[in-house]
Amino acid sequence: MPACPPIAISAVCLFANYEVPSFSGFPVGGLLMFSLYAAIAAAAIAFAVWMDDQQGQAPIPRMDLWYAGIAALIFALPVGAWRLGPSFVPLSLLGLGGFAYLFTARRDKSVPADERILTKRFISTLKQSLQERLASNKNRPAKAAKEKVKPPSVAERLQQFSTLLEKFGGRRGRKPKAAAATDGPAPPEFKLLKKDGSPAIANQEATSATQSENIHNVRKMLMTAMGAGATDVHLEPHEKEFFVRLRVDGVLKNSETITMPAGKGMISTLKVASDMDIAERRRPQDGTFSALFGKDKYEIRAASTPTSYGEKMVLRLLNSSGGVMNAGLANIGLRTQILEALKEVIHKPYGMFLVTGPTGSGKTTTVYASLNEIDAQQHNITTIEDPVEYRLDGITQIAVNTAAGVTFASILRSVLRQDPDVLLVGEIRDKETAEIACQAALTGHFVFSTLHANDTVSTITRMLDLGLDPMLIQTAVTAVLGQRLARKLCMKCREAYPPPPDLLKRLGLKPEAVPVIYKEKGCPECGGTGYKGRIGIHELMVMTDDIRKLITDSPSIEHLKAATRAAGTRSLQTDGFLKVLKGQTSISEVVRVTT
Ligand SMILES: [Zn+2]
Repeated sequence: MPACPPIAISAVCLFANYEVPSFSGFPVGGLLMFSLYAAIAAAAIAFAVWMDDQQGQAPIPRMDLWYAGIAALIFALPVGAWRLGPSFVPLSLLGLGGFAYLFTARRDKSVPADERILTKRFISTLKQSLQERLASNKNRPAKAAKEKVKPPSVAERLQQFSTLLEKFGGRRGRKPKAAAATDGPAPPEFKLLKKDGSPAIANQEATSATQSENIHNVRKMLMTAMGAGATDVHLEPHEKEFFVRLRVDGVLKNSETITMPAGKGMISTLKVASDMDIAERRRPQDGTFSALFGKDKYEIRAASTPTSYGEKMVLRLLNSSGGVMNAGLANIGLRTQILEALKEVIHKPYGMFLVTGPTGSGKTTTVYASLNEIDAQQHNITTIEDPVEYRLDGITQIAVNTAAGVTFASILRSVLRQDPDVLLVGEIRDKETAEIACQAALTGHFVFSTLHANDTVSTITRMLDLGLDPMLIQTAVTAVLGQRLARKLCMKCREAYPPPPDLLKRLGLKPEAVPVIYKEKGCPECGGTGYKGRIGIHELMVMTDDIRKLITDSPSIEHLKAATRAAGTRSLQTDGFLKVLKGQTSISEVVRVTT
């Protein structure tokens, strides 16, 4: 008999083995068959879960047919195993492989180019990561290899499997997510501390039912705010009701409406916590306290103001655990080109790097992240801040106190006598600070700072407006980074649509280069806004001789802009649109933050 390929064998077996029981030779043969069947079924289920995941990411037409296909495949497996015996293995692998290939090919048509799977690039990165993993396994000492991680117990495996099933079932909509959230794991530990470290509001302090109710409300409100990642909480009295509003991702929205007495009670509790005068309601006051929420530590600045309906309070929540700060430059959403250029800039021995943008554009985060790239062991790093927002290890941090006459300029002068290598000046607001900072940059120091301006070019004009000598700007400034924060699309509900042709044209792309982009929709996961989290959009201007030449007493903004474009700078809006093509944000959001 000539050698037949597996398909032919299987086809023949289908008819020839009609009467032969496939689990013959029990236990050995039967068990082997059963485990093979189980492994192939598990692979098919895992693929179905992945399919379901993809459906949420990209619009794939006729998903019901794809689901029916994989379901048919999964249910055909036991019949095949029973009817065909060993030949069901190659046949079902072929079936599953073919199905997986067809689905992936269809999926690739619906996603942006860099998320496609059946491409040479994806396969080569996969190969590379496999090789790296193999290499690191080889290099591991023999002893470490022996101490293998304990395999998960049966109970753990069952738990994993039930999570998988839940995931599979939940996505179908049989089990709504919201229900699972309420009876989820116990909430993390929550503590409020006064400035001196003593408990700010302890339950034993409550002497009446109203007071303990107030404490309960404050805790609940703060936990909601921290859970939502809010940066500010507004407690506002209105004519009849009291509003609690949260600023999340830069946008203020109503969190709850409560009764007037409940709102007033919360404000007095917060005044006690932040050491304010509780009887004083007609004068603005401020104070601070801190909160421990699980692993995160927050510093909370409270400010009260009288309004026509009574006292209003705003809380600023600063997460001081330093998560963002320790993330480094690679994690703040910079385009690769900008990241590489920036790394080169900040490792220069002297010069000045300015981050610019309006309030709330994430300037501070970027400056700290850049500072974090510099080795604090080898350099003397000093920061001058107003106020010190994040504590950093191995760095001298000095706070400005304008009321006591301790200004950016005065500290800067005295710090320069202490042989610093790297300086961070929180913000350049006046001519004096700008001048000393520029001179420091010219005398062998590297200066990081922020400046309130719209974009990179207007930073130069802003410095000239402060009255700075053009010569000083020309020689001191090494690079300027303009920045905005755009809200990131919620990955659970973003909606795909074909990109408008003029967008692709503007970015110099062919019409078919990017099949889909996304817009916001709204789901429980993102509180109905369609957005979750934020991403920076940037433009980097590195000083070139051409740009330097243009910096005179009153340079033409148009000429400056043209020179920065010629030097390879892409505008904030362009950077934003590139992030739209990647599916990270929407056109309307980029337009909102850049105009
Ligand atoms: Zn959503």
